[in-house]
Amino acid sequence: MTIKISEPILGEEEKKAVIDVLDSRQLSQGEKVRQLEELFAQYIGTKYAIALNSGTAALHLALIANGIGEGDEVITSPFSFVASASTILMSKAKPVFVDIEEDSFNINTYLIEKKISDKTKAVIPVHLFGYPSDMEKIVEIAKKNNLIIIEDACQAHGAKIGDKNVGTFGIGCFSFYPTKNITTGEGGMITTNDEKIDELIRKLRNHGSLIRYHHDILGYNYRMTELSAAIGIAQLKKLEFFNSRRIENALYLKEKIKIPGIITPKVSSGYRHVFHQFTIRVTKRYKMTREELMKKLKRNDIECEIYYPIPIHKQALFKKLGYDEKLPICEKITKEVLSLPIHPSVSKNDLNKIIEILGD
Ligand SMILES: *Cc1c(COP(=O)(O)O)cnc(C)c1O
Repeated sequence: MTIKISEPILGEEEKKAVIDVLDSRQLSQGEKVRQLEELFAQYIGTKYAIALNSGTAALHLALIANGIGEGDEVITSPFSFVASASTILMSKAKPVFVDIEEDSFNINTYLIEKKISDKTKAVIPVHLFGYPSDMEKIVEIAKKNNLIIIEDACQAHGAKIGDKNVGTFGIGCFSFYPTKNITTGEGGMITTNDEKIDELIRKLRNHGSLIRYHHDILGYNYRMTELSAAIGIAQLKKLEFFNSRRIENALYLKEKIKIPGIITPKVSSGYRHVFHQFTIRVTKRYKMTREELMKKLKRNDIECEIYYPIPIHKQALFKKLGYDEKLPICEKITKEVLSLPIHPSVSKNDLNKIIEILGD
């Protein structure tokens, strides 16, 4: 049996929820989406939550609902999934990349202010792998420079600083893609306390319309289906259990992996890491290369992945746009990182096998 790098957990509750929606014949714009929005807002601790059909849609609408567009610059991390930055291009603004911290993998807040110009309108910190960015510092910088904060929390459902959830420091963007901590198949969510933003996003996701066949502005079809929302309601009830299993598995690996040349993920006190991924660094001091270690793990039926092998600013998409700057920490880290399985279905036995292979 292969130990998979990720695997959604879908039980009888999800199956029943989908069948109930099918039986109801109400497949879109019904009660399930409303219910999921209410439950998610409650869970995160915001007044509003708006369901969408992807995390990408969430980032895109968060940007345009805040009036970000042509001529504007938006600061983000180069070490993320491409959507953290491609959505800035979709809004017609310019992504500006700030290098990361090598221990947290998140944006280096000490480098942000150097990249702020009179065109900078927003910052998108990414809570990568489920670990919160330093929001205290980012909120301070944003206040001082009058920037909007859009949190890419697509990997961080339930991550916290103190008792405050990510997605409450700015406008929060979440994804429910099958690899994420909970899934709706495809899906996304925006969290906000701003009533006007809530209304505008509801309009933008539905062809610029709140009243049927009246279109005030250019909008999109970014609606979540009732089927997805029904799965989401069942999944959300299990999120705390899923997260506690991930954290338990990750902390077990972190405690047991004391191997020269392997660096395990940082967890600062007061930060709740929800371990969307457990990502180690395989440095030159380790007895074999990262690629050799990957082969060895795969030979032993353990899946592992490099998230992410190419920094966003090095992608062909961005090279063609003229991006050619060096972001040394990000470029070094992409050559070292390796994510190991810790999702809720991974057992103690599986973890011991991983530890043995790394050490032996
Ligand atoms: C998954 C993800 C997205 C995009 O979410 P989709 O639902 O796949 O569109 C954006 N940013 C990050 C960091 C992600 O992990």
